[in-house]
Order: sequence, then C-alpha cells, then structure tokens
Amino acid sequence: MSAGPSWGGLPGDPPILPHWIGNRPVLTADGRDPAWIDDLAPATGRVRARIARGGPAEVDAAVGAARAALTGPWAGWTAAARAELLDRAAALLEARLDELAALEGEDSGKPVALAARMDIPRAVANLRFFAGAARHDHTPCHADGGPGRRLNYTLRRPVGVCALITPWNLPLYLLTWKVAPALAMGNTVVCKPSELTPATATALAAALAEAGLPDGVFNLVHGYGPEVGAPLVAHPGVSLVSFTGGTATGRSVAAAAAPSFKKLSLELGGKNATVIFADAVDSEAALDAVVSGAVRAAFTNQGQICLCGSRLLVEGRAYDRVVGRFLQRMAALRVGPPEAAVDMGSLISHAHREKVEGYLRLAREEGGVVVGGERPSPAEAPEGGAFLRPAAVLGLSPRCRVATEEIFGPVVSVHRFEDEAEALEQANLVRYGLAASVWTTQLDRAHRVAAALEAGIVWVNCWLERDLRTPFGGVKESGVGREGGDWSLDFYSEVRNVCLALS
Ligand code: NDP
Repeated sequence: MSAGPSWGGLPGDPPILPHWIGNRPVLTADGRDPAWIDDLAPATGRVRARIARGGPAEVDAAVGAARAALTGPWAGWTAAARAELLDRAAALLEARLDELAALEGEDSGKPVALAARMDIPRAVANLRFFAGAARHDHTPCHADGGPGRRLNYTLRRPVGVCALITPWNLPLYLLTWKVAPALAMGNTVVCKPSELTPATATALAAALAEAGLPDGVFNLVHGYGPEVGAPLVAHPGVSLVSFTGGTATGRSVAAAAAPSFKKLSLELGGKNATVIFADAVDSEAALDAVVSGAVRAAFTNQGQICLCGSRLLVEGRAYDRVVGRFLQRMAALRVGPPEAAVDMGSLISHAHREKVEGYLRLAREEGGVVVGGERPSPAEAPEGGAFLRPAAVLGLSPRCRVATEEIFGPVVSVHRFEDEAEALEQANLVRYGLAASVWTTQLDRAHRVAAALEAGIVWVNCWLERDLRTPFGGVKESGVGREGGDWSLDFYSEVRNVCLALS
C-alpha cells in the first residue's frame, strides 16, 4: 500500500483519488455518500488507492463547470498566456519526474525506468510542444486585391467543452496528448481516464491548478466507462470527443456522439506488422540491429502499446536467421517487478493476463508452436502480480485469429513471405491499419512498400520514433481522424472564415 496520498490525492488508508471539478477535489457532486473503486497495483495485486466512483451527477457537474469556464476569465486569455500556463505545468511535472514515474509504474505495472524515460518525459514534451504551437499558430488570409474586392481571413475559435477519454496503457502520456492542444486552443476539458490507472491524471489536475489554470477549465471524473464515459460522450454540453481505446468501445463512442454532431477523433486498436526484408540483415551487425528493433516493437510496455509490432513478417531466405536471433533475444528479456532493473513489468491485470493466455491456448489448438509465454517463477516476479513472459507463435497462417485479432500483450505471431507482393498482402489483410515498420536497405522498396501499406503511420528502419509535428492516427478499424501538430490544432479549434468587403 502507498505510504501517503499521491500528488493531487487525499489522505486516507489507502489514499483517496478524488474527481477534480472546478479546480477542487470532489468526492460526489450531489451530496450522496461516495462509492469507491479499488485502484490495484497490478504487480502486487494490492490496493494502492481508493478511487471516487463517478456517475452521471459528476459528469453533469464537470460539464457544467467546463461550460461556465468558457465564458469566464479563461475566454480572455491570449494564446501567449495559455502557452505560459502549459510551460509552467510542464516544469512542475518535470520537477517531479521520478515521483510520477514511480506512480505510473505502481499503477500500471510497467517498469519505472520505462516510465522515467518514455511516459513522463513525453507528457512534459506534449505540454511544451503545444505551448510552442499556440505561440506560433497562424491562420490564412486570402486577399483578392484592391478596392471593390474582398479580403478573407480565418480565425480559430475554441470548440467548447472537450471530452477526453483515455486508456490504461500510457496514462499520462496519452492524457496530455489531448489536454495540451485542447487548452492551447482555448477550450475547456472534462477528462475520463481509465479507472485502472487514475493516479497520474489526478497528479495532472493538481499540476494544472498549481500552474494557475482558472476554475473549471480542467475537470476530471473518475469511474467506469458505462457510468462516466458514456454519459460524458452523450452529454449535450460537450462539443468535442477525443477517444483513445479499443475498437469495440470506439464504435459505441462514435454512435453516441453522432446524433449531436460532436467533433470526433478516435484512436483505436492495432495489429501492426514488422516487415523484415532479407536485404536488411546482410551482416551480423545488421541482423542484431534489426532484430533488436523488432523485439522492442513487439514487447515494449509488455506489448501493451497500440503501435506494438505484434506480427513479425520475415522474408523466406532470411527467415531462419532472423527468427533464431529474435527468439534468443526474446528469451533474454528480464521480467519482474516494475521498480527493478527489468525489460518488462506486469500486465495491467490478472483478467488481461488470462485473456492473453487464452490466445496462447488458441494458438496451440490452431496447430501453432508457442515459444515462451510462461508465468515467471516467484523468484523472478511477485506471485500476486500479473506477470507473463514474452511469447512468439510460429507455424500459423497469417489469417488465423491469433494473427489478426488484437491481443494487446507480449505475444508476437511470426510469418514467412517470399516476395514483396506477399509481404504486402500479409501486412494488409487485417481489419486494423494503425502502424507498420519496414526494414530494408533498398530505397526504392522502402518508398514502394511505405506507400502500399494500409496504415496511418509507417516507420522505415525504426519504430516508435515520434516527431510531434506529424499526423498520428490510423485507417480502417484503427480509427478516424488525425491528431498531432497542425492536425491537433485543427481538431481542437473551429475555424471561422471572415469575408470583408474592401469597398
Ligand atoms: P477501452 O476501449 O476498454 O477503454 C478506453 C477508455 O474508454 C477507458 O477510459 C474506458 O473506461 C472508457 N470507456 C469504456 N466504455 C466506454 C463507453 N461506453 N463510452 C465512453 N468511454 C468508455 O480500452 P482499454 O482501456 O482497454 O485500452 C486498450 C485499447 O486502447 C487497445 O485496444 C489499444 O489498442 C487502444 N489504444 C489505442 C491507441 C491509439 O492511439 N490508437 C493508443 C493506446 C491504446 P473503463 O476503463 O472504465 O472501461
């Protein structure tokens, strides 16, 4: 159990994670006795905090506070002032990076070292990047010459109250990816993080309050999807919904948002291919570098990143060398408690581990060979945790369920192709289209394959390299819309054209 309240939490045994409504911690919005959700640490199974269990009353209060704030002092803030606020919040998070990384590790089971080098720095970068974007934003002017003509110019206006719904795998990283551009463009927000990983969302609420955000601009309601997420999406006071999560949930979010024509962005699931051509591994050093990229793509964050390369497609004449080295490297990954020097921590929950193990059973039933995928020994990892060693599934068709359904865990299915056309056919046969990584030294092939892959993001000879100016999002059932750079500024603002007669 945690020693004290996490940043933004309230003292208690265990500590309490309240909602934040109108810049204040709140347990219930209508005076009823609070109900609670246990916040479990997946690596130990222990209750690390109690979360206030929100419902429609809290959603209504949060949306009300956010609507009121749209016409309060916040409406008069300049872009430069909003940018300074985001920079102040970034500095506050950065100053507590170690504490936040430990919190993220405890709450999600991921290695604390990973949170310290990826999740928290990226959250800080999100705030700083969109502070810069607000400062440098400019809008077009369409001038049509002298007297008697027209001058058209474009204004960006806030959209209104934004509902920001996030999953458990990259809690603060993904929440700030939405909050920062929403605030940079002058909106107000109501956030609904996953109830599995609420800790750093509460810390963000405290950081924004400390940075000087006016009342009601940032609101946070904890709770379950059907009790908080669904009423939030349907709420008539909400004008925009940005949702990151599973494809099935995304489908119901889209249906609920459609009748009131809310602006909508959906970042959904993935089943991404890592495509390795033989030309990329023509030396031992190249083989090492490529396989290390493929292992990273498959198992970072226990394979629980929507961008993970969970299908490994290898050209026939390099298949044995690549797969042999891949299995060696996979077996060497250290799995254990988040605070230790490990490559992989715990999965998010026991239920999720059972789902992943179910796919490994299915792979065997379908005639595949499963390498790895065991629960680690108690000497490696605490027994109460949801740990699982990484697994590779060999010998199955690229069309089987294990190779086409999103498992969202440390499982990679391995397939062989004989030429470029077959590589593309295998890569594109799934219903998802989020990302892919291609490994080749042939420039013409790199461009050809990148253009033909059905994916929103293609990495060539790298994986998870993110430039925040670039568009992020998927095709097919991986989502609708793009966020990132100017795409976020467009999504989180309404553009208005003003046409001025010059005579
Ligand atoms: P879910 O879809 O289960 O949940 C996402 C969020 O939506 C949670 O906060 C959840 O609350 C909430 N929610 C659930 N039901 C509803 C509803 N009816 N209306 C509104 N909100 C609702 O995803 P997971 O949390 O399990 O996250 C894993 C998924 O997220 C994977 O499929 C992964 O691929 C995807 N993902 C996509 C990314 C991308 O950028 N494309 C990035 C990261 C993850 P609750 O937790 O209470 O259910």
